[in-house]
Amino acid sequence: MDSRNFQGLPLCLVEGHCKSEAKRELYPFEVKGQVCWDRWYPWNEYIHPFLLHNLSGYRRLWTRLGNGNWKIQLCWVKAHIGIPGNELADTLAKEAAANIDIMECYNKAPKSVVRSEIGKKSVEKWQRDWVHTTKGQITKEYFPTVADRLKVKINLTNNFMTMVTGHGNIRSYLYRFKILETPLCSCGTEEQTIDHLLYKCERLNKEGNSLRSKVMQTDTWPTSKETLIQKHLKTFIKFTNEIALDKLNEVTNPA
Ligand SMILES: [Zn+2]
Repeated sequence: MDSRNFQGLPLCLVEGHCKSEAKRELYPFEVKGQVCWDRWYPWNEYIHPFLLHNLSGYRRLWTRLGNGNWKIQLCWVKAHIGIPGNELADTLAKEAAANIDIMECYNKAPKSVVRSEIGKKSVEKWQRDWVHTTKGQITKEYFPTVADRLKVKINLTNNFMTMVTGHGNIRSYLYRFKILETPLCSCGTEEQTIDHLLYKCERLNKEGNSLRSKVMQTDTWPTSKETLIQKHLKTFIKFTNEIALDKLNEVTNPA
């Protein structure tokens, strides 16, 4: 729901109060001296938090109108059957919700709502930055969506971090920083990159076969890094825990 819509209801009530004072004839209520609502629905479950927060304002208004000889009763009414006050509130709410010029204001909202709205906007901004950044290309292949990443808890071991970032104890990375003289994998076939370790390295046949056979129960192989995370996270984590990167790199690069 667009956050503008949250403001529709309180705005319609505020405006409705103003209009009601001018069009008093729309509300021919009798004095009942009571407030009626369905006893199975407590206020705080029944009313949007924006409105709930503003109740003290409505109480003051209620008192003021009462002192001005208004006769006020709150009760449930059926919608869209032509009750003038309800139709007016409905019209005003729709107008307010459709008005893009209305400032979004959170100063009357409960902290929990503000926190939730800010959280959503932060993730949206994070996603935009994530899409546009030229950094973290390998990680982006595993985690293209920030929101999806935030949904899963992962124990971040050294091997896992190396495999999802490309930064760590792999030869292409160490070669890039001039720590090794060659990026060639100890299997001797090609550069030791993340893709090589994941899909091709002959020295990781055992671990790779285990990963591949599990994935192929439901997907084709080679599968994307995103699918590994989305659908085979446990199996992928097991793979990262089983591969011994230190040992793999020791063989062709003795101290
Ligand atoms: Zn290899």
